[in-house]
Amino acid sequence: MKTLFERSVKGRRCTILPENDVPVYEFAETRAVAPRLPELSETDISRHYTKLAQHTFGVNNGFYPLGSCTMKYNPKINEEAAALEGFTQIHPTQQDAQGSLRLLKTAEKYLCEITGMDEMTFTPAAGAHGELTGLMLIKKYHEVNGHTQRVKIIVPDSAHGTNPASSSMCGFTVVNIPSSEDGCVDLDELRKAVGEDTAGLMLTNPNTLGIFDKNIKQITDIVHEAGGLCYYDGANLNAVMGIARPGDMGFDCIHLNLHKSFSTPHGGGGPGSGPVGCKSFLAEFLPSQRIVEEAGTLKWEDRKDSIGMVRSFHGNFLVVVKAFAYLVTLGKQGVPETAKNAVLNANYLKHLLEDTYEVAKPGICMHEFVLTLENLKKETGVSAMDVAKALQDYGIHPPTMYFPLNVHEALMLEPTETESKETLDEAAAAFLDIYKTIQENPESLHDTPHHSYIKRPDEVTAARHPVLRYRFDD
Ligand SMILES: *Cc1c(COP(=O)(O)O)cnc(C)c1O
Repeated sequence: MKTLFERSVKGRRCTILPENDVPVYEFAETRAVAPRLPELSETDISRHYTKLAQHTFGVNNGFYPLGSCTMKYNPKINEEAAALEGFTQIHPTQQDAQGSLRLLKTAEKYLCEITGMDEMTFTPAAGAHGELTGLMLIKKYHEVNGHTQRVKIIVPDSAHGTNPASSSMCGFTVVNIPSSEDGCVDLDELRKAVGEDTAGLMLTNPNTLGIFDKNIKQITDIVHEAGGLCYYDGANLNAVMGIARPGDMGFDCIHLNLHKSFSTPHGGGGPGSGPVGCKSFLAEFLPSQRIVEEAGTLKWEDRKDSIGMVRSFHGNFLVVVKAFAYLVTLGKQGVPETAKNAVLNANYLKHLLEDTYEVAKPGICMHEFVLTLENLKKETGVSAMDVAKALQDYGIHPPTMYFPLNVHEALMLEPTETESKETLDEAAAAFLDIYKTIQENPESLHDTPHHSYIKRPDEVTAARHPVLRYRFDD
């Protein structure tokens, strides 16, 4: 497919301006060379983007079981709510937008109730940004209390990759601890790791193996007894929302991914929202301004012990509008039902596959599960990559590949609650059909997909010599 630059024809326009009837003003400072923008008609542009959209795969095209990403269907009515003029035509510094402030305050209340936290900020723009913000609260807490020796964050090996990255970015030393055989945190290893220098623990739960840690309360007790705080990576809240509250499990701080569990389409680079909730003893450190109510009127107020701004203004407000619309649609009954269906769908799909493919950790899973193709690859030469790419020929988006790192030849599947039984049956049939091909003609899978617009890219070249910008020939 040609780029817009290649389609450009000198002088072609998609607008016709009237003749200039005012004096021409000469700017003092102008660039010496005009920017080389593509020159196109409206037809060219419309066709270009339509074609691009047709070559893209999204939740609206088909099954998208990308583990750890919660690619669920987002009801269109939430988009309509976020498109209301009352929300789109306000400025972040406007103090009289009482309806919008009320929405933020109410969304905070609902999400605090769901997570068991006391306060929540919507400032962080995504999950990893929320992690950094939460860790800054923990850091500030230790600073204020004179615990300057507490510089280490414990991160189990089943954590999401952003957890050690955020800890390190926040200036902490990361202590990695291995999981036990069953995929849960190894309590002995945790006891050995905690001490005077422990600032806290970051736990992804359910973890990247799709397992809810059975020792959750013991974990937080061990960390608290050592003087550390507990951070809950709640990006996977889809599995537990409305059923179990991280606040009740002993966690002091949490981030959510509104763009995963709470209905904002994602994967294209934003906008997202990674609200951070905390217990009241950390709330004075929350970023930027907080909403307070005086005689029925809401307003923004500075907090003197705040960690400061982590983003401009108050975060991606319209993402919160979508989450709010979603929450009021689901209600108190719908939130736990959503989680139950997410878990049911994952277990159903796992059940259909587990006699053919090897599951990394057998047993009941939460919202996702991981297959390991290590033995299959040894026997047949077919890799997790080959199978993932082959799924594209069945109209299915590949699952997450080669993650988590503690499982070899991993494929991580998260069907989400918005898929029907029929879709899951079809997906399982595709997996079983691929398995048949593996037995009959394994070679044929090495260059899958065969029918998609882009065939298998050369990943090494793409990583080592990425072409990130268009270069003109002349
Ligand atoms: C997606 C995810 C994150 C990171 O969220 P971003 O919005 O991509 O920064 C963190 N933790 C877990 C468990 C996740 O699934």
